[in-house]
Amino acid sequence: MRAKVWLVGAGPGDPELLTLKAVRALREAQVVMIDDLVNPAVLEHCPAAQVIAVGKRGGCRSTPQAFIQRLMLRHARQGRCVVRLKGGDPCIFGRGGEEALWLQEQGIEVELVNGITAGLAGATQCGIPLTLRGVSRGVTLVTAHTQDDSPLNWVGLAQGGTTLVVYMGVARLEEIRQGLLAAGMAATTPVAMIENASLPSQRECRSQLQRMGTDAAAFALRSPAVLVIGEVAGGVASAVLDPVVAQASA
Ligand code: SAH
Repeated sequence: MRAKVWLVGAGPGDPELLTLKAVRALREAQVVMIDDLVNPAVLEHCPAAQVIAVGKRGGCRSTPQAFIQRLMLRHARQGRCVVRLKGGDPCIFGRGGEEALWLQEQGIEVELVNGITAGLAGATQCGIPLTLRGVSRGVTLVTAHTQDDSPLNWVGLAQGGTTLVVYMGVARLEEIRQGLLAAGMAATTPVAMIENASLPSQRECRSQLQRMGTDAAAFALRSPAVLVIGEVAGGVASAVLDPVVAQASA
């Protein structure tokens, strides 16, 4: 049998948001390499597997990517069923793409399993529909953190007419605020900042583009958090979702 690695999304945190396919992979796993943001509760599905924490907060201080890849390769070549478990979806800011490519180049079979990405889960948990007829015709998932620190295309983001979901943005709120304002986004654009989405510790801070930095500081917003920027993050969405309540309060 050809060596195989499963690259599996563990979802945003709530263990009930794991897919059935992820559970099947975990049940079959002999080695599970687990990332930072994965809720360890999901390991109940692989009680006999060897679990290796490879994330920054997982015990080993920021395991180098090359080391993780070689470790996956070694276990797979020894004939073990390896599951690489990542927070959210493996291919949304999760290096799933590059790991899959590299493993395939080494002759390893790869199977990718979707997970619910944090931005989608966070919005849903807060009752925010990311697309909404007449309000938002699309969603843009974007990271505020780039490898080479190159600037984002603020004009494209501000004027694209889609809801923005920003990952890894907590340390860059001021940069995001300035970039979007300078690119013409309205200062009063609603913003929701959602910390620990889908976990019992979830917190949400509602704000507006112009004051999101000060509101986040007062709220003591911490990573991991996603930002939802756009009209859907304001009252307009609940008015559309619940017209009876909207009429009553009019
Ligand atoms: N692959 C992951 C993203 C990894 S990048 C996914 O699809 O969700 C790490 C970033 O994801 C964090 O900085 C944060 O912006 C976001 N994130 C991950 N888990 C989160 C959670 N439970 N709540 C809010 N944001 C989260």
